[in-house]
Amino acid sequence: MSLRKAINAHCKSCIYDDAEKGTWVKQVENCTVYKCDLYKVRPLTKASKQLIKTTSI
Ligand code: SF4
Repeated sequence: MSLRKAINAHCKSCIYDDAEKGTWVKQVENCTVYKCDLYKVRPLTKASKQLIKTTSI
C-alpha cells in the first residue's frame, strides 16, 4: 500500500460517518483537528486541490 493510500485510509477510518452529510473525502477535508500530524497531508476534494493549484504562486 502506498503512503498516500495509507493516509487516506487512516483519515477515512478516523472521521467518516456514513450517516453524516458528504462523501468521506469531504468529511476528511472538513476535519478541524489542526494539531493532528496528518492534518496538512489529509486527502482533499478535487475542487479544493484545483483551487490550491490555481491560487499558488
Ligand atoms: S487529519 Fe483529521 S481525519 Fe485525518 S487522521 Fe487527523 S484527525 Fe483524523
